[in-house]
Amino acid sequence: PAKTMDELVSLCKRRGFIFQGSEIYGGMQGAYDYGPLGIELKNNLKAAWWRSMVYERDDVEGLDAAIIQNKHVYKYSGHEDTFTDPMVDCHECKSRMRADHMKDIKVCDNCGSTNVTAPRDFNLMFKTNVGPMVNEESYTYLRPETAQGIFTNFKNVVDSTSRTLPFGIAQIGKSFRNEITPRNFIFRVREFEQMELEFFCKPGEDEKWHEFWVGARKQWWLDQGLAEENIEFEYVTGDDLAHYSKSTVDILYKFPHGFEELEGVANRTDYDLGSHTKAQEEFGLSAKVKKNEHSTAKLAIRDLEENKWEVPFCIEPSAGLDRGLLAVMTEAYTEEELPNGSSRTVLKFKPHLAPIKVAIMPLKKNKPEIVALAKELKNKLQKLGLGRILYENTGNVGKGYRRHDEVGTPICVTVDFDSIEQEGAPVTVRDRDTMEQIVVPAAELPAYVINYFIN
Ligand code: ATP
Repeated sequence: PAKTMDELVSLCKRRGFIFQGSEIYGGMQGAYDYGPLGIELKNNLKAAWWRSMVYERDDVEGLDAAIIQNKHVYKYSGHEDTFTDPMVDCHECKSRMRADHMKDIKVCDNCGSTNVTAPRDFNLMFKTNVGPMVNEESYTYLRPETAQGIFTNFKNVVDSTSRTLPFGIAQIGKSFRNEITPRNFIFRVREFEQMELEFFCKPGEDEKWHEFWVGARKQWWLDQGLAEENIEFEYVTGDDLAHYSKSTVDILYKFPHGFEELEGVANRTDYDLGSHTKAQEEFGLSAKVKKNEHSTAKLAIRDLEENKWEVPFCIEPSAGLDRGLLAVMTEAYTEEELPNGSSRTVLKFKPHLAPIKVAIMPLKKNKPEIVALAKELKNKLQKLGLGRILYENTGNVGKGYRRHDEVGTPICVTVDFDSIEQEGAPVTVRDRDTMEQIVVPAAELPAYVINYFIN
């Protein structure tokens, strides 16, 4: 794995994974742009999450709710009142920092001065104005988590799918937080994507489901290539527990800057649906909620055995996509000494995550038959629907191998003179990890590639 963030940052920029946002204007703190390979990796990680959360289960539905929502959503979710981090100002250097990240709350992290304020609450939501009138009422916020859109659509999803408990709703999308101190590359940013599941169950079955999801989510991260020894659980307790949570387990990963949260799995009880429902008094809620004077819907489900309406409990595995991508890159990053004394950098991605699945390289740039066969193979493999297949005609196969090692392409295929002269059109298939080369007849290449990626 990568030892420093710097080596990742430099590889990401050099090869087109991730760029500083607004770079040509001096940058924008806490915002990054995903380049040609970054977007492929991100899409592959999202697809893997969606496959495991929605397609491979029969008790989860998908959703894509709006980022801009009615301000009442944040009034009743509790974000308007409590979505804050403690902040400290330094009187000397005028910097601001997040108090719970400081080494010592009485000493400025930036200049070392002791002339600092006491911590005060800073709300992390971006406030924005909606519509052409700017007045006291026309504001809302960019969502700081995707979850609220799931809760506000609870009745829509139940009514349109006839779901009964237990079942979940999954969503992937952007979230925004005006972090006091964005840092550590894409680890803590102001605009990021989350992959969230809200899993609804009967009260009393919540602890069992919480335990289930902690285990399932750890297994999923292992399936994305993270090593067991680089994952830890942190049981959040006491003051660190969010007000809505009965218990939370954070899944930590060993990033280059240390073990830090990758995903949180929280037991949110009936807090969220109870907060957003109308007629709260009918349901005997277990969570303490703000009195709701605006909701028009009962967010409850019929318990067929007991023939009554009840507000379910909710288990939430909430993962950061950008943090996930950083973890996967950290883990995949490998510096290898080769037998001939040289060295290489390889990103050892799991095949399903690799931004480029197969690179096809003609050995000779200007030999029409070689070029034609290489293009034909590219088109055939592209139709398999595995992801990006790259036809690359630079005429330097050695350099191509090195470049594709560095971006994690699992398979390189070379088309050479043998391919056009010999019967069966043999092409050379080179494996990223073993660097072994084998010869495969062109007609068998699609089957070879499918077998490699599907198994
Ligand atoms: P932290 O304590 O690191 O600020 P959090 O506990 O506030 O995180 P949650 O509200 O539980 O985070 O959000 C769920 C997930 O969303 C986190 O585990 C993380 O992967 C991701 N996430 C949260 N804030 C950020 C951010 N500023 N940048 C990138 N990812 C984030």
